[in-house]
Formats: sequence, C-alpha cells, structure tokens
Amino acid sequence: MTRSDDNWRPGPETPRAHHFDAAFCGDPNCGIHIVAFTERHQPICEIVTSARQTLMLVEICQDYLYEKATQRVDDQQLADLKLELLPADRLSALRQELAEAKEHAESLQFTFDLQWKADMRAVARWREAHPGNDLVLPDRANLVVWLIEEYEKLKAERHD
Ligand SMILES: [Zn+2]
Repeated sequence: MTRSDDNWRPGPETPRAHHFDAAFCGDPNCGIHIVAFTERHQPICEIVTSARQTLMLVEICQDYLYEKATQRVDDQQLADLKLELLPADRLSALRQELAEAKEHAESLQFTFDLQWKADMRAVARWREAHPGNDLVLPDRANLVVWLIEEYEKLKAERHD
C-alpha cells in the first residue's frame, strides 16, 4: 500500500486521531509530547517521544516537504535543488568538475572550429573546381584525396 491511498495507515488498526496538540516538557531526555484527539476533540492518548524519535519525525517531515517541493519544479530546478541539498564539500567538488569540463569543452570547441574553417576553405576550392556543385558538401576522405591530387599535379607542373 502506498501513502497516496486514502486508507493508508502507518501501523495496525487503532482508534484514529484527527487532531493533536504538541509540546516540549523541558526534560532534556524527552522529545516532543503529542496528545492525540478524536474528530470530536476527545483526547485518546499522549505519545511521549524520545529526542531521537523527534529527530526521526523531523526527517519524515523533511522528506515529505522535499517531495512536495520537487513535485512543483521542473527537471532543471529539481537538479538545482538536489545540488543545494548536497554536503558542501561534495557540492564544491562537483562545481570544480563542472568548471574543468567546461574548460575542456572550450578547448575541444577551439580545435573543432579550426578544423571546420580549414574544411570550409578546402570545400570552397573543391566547389571552384567543380562548377554547379555549390550545395554539395563533398565527402571528407574524397576531399582530402582530391586536394592531394591537386597538390601532386601542381608539384609535377613546377618540375616540367
Ligand atoms: Zn517529557
């Protein structure tokens, strides 16, 4: 059974409380005191929790609030929220990794751009030599073979 079921209960069948009062008594070994009431405001019982159990309650509430909050955010916001919830050292390690990855991507982009511009110069030469192919992007291997052939021809002409 999941918590979304209307009949979900955390434990066995018991009288069901619909209201509660909660307070701390001041005893350092005590957690929160909760008095449960019926729908008609009749007290049912008092739950005396330990400090540890109170922390457990806080964790359950945090999980609940986190779930509610994340239901209303998109994937990017969810990712940001999860990042914010990471321990500080893990977060700073991830930020460092991200900065390094960005730097690496920039250097790859620089190399790619150089290569791309060189390719485009070669394509322009090939189109000049092959009129009517202004929209054709020649296969790269064929382009290189053609350029080498052109180079060999030029070299041969010079030695004639
Ligand atoms: Zn107490």
